[in-house]
Amino acid sequence: MILTNKVLCDLCGNCVAVCPQSCIEINHYCLKISHEQCIECQNCVAVCPSAALKQVQDDKN
Ligand code: SF4
Ligand code: SF4
Repeated sequence: MILTNKVLCDLCGNCVAVCPQSCIEINHYCLKISHEQCIECQNCVAVCPSAALKQVQDDKN
C-alpha cells in the first residue's frame, strides 16, 4: 500500500500525472489514493520531489 505523508506533500501534482490507474486525486488541498485501484507500480513514489510517498507492507495479508 502507498502511504502519503501529508506534512511533506506540497500538492505539486506530479504523482497524479503519472498514475496509470488514475487513482490519485487532489481534493480540497488533500491528496487521496484509492487503494482498491492501485497496482503498486510505484510511479508516484519515483516522481515525488518531496519524498512524501512510500510503499509499506499491507497488513491485510
Ligand atoms: S503505485 Fe502506481 S497505481 Fe498506485 S497510486 Fe502510485 S502511481 Fe498509482
Ligand atoms: S508528487 Fe509528492 S509532493 Fe507532489 S502531489 Fe504527489 S505526493 Fe504530493
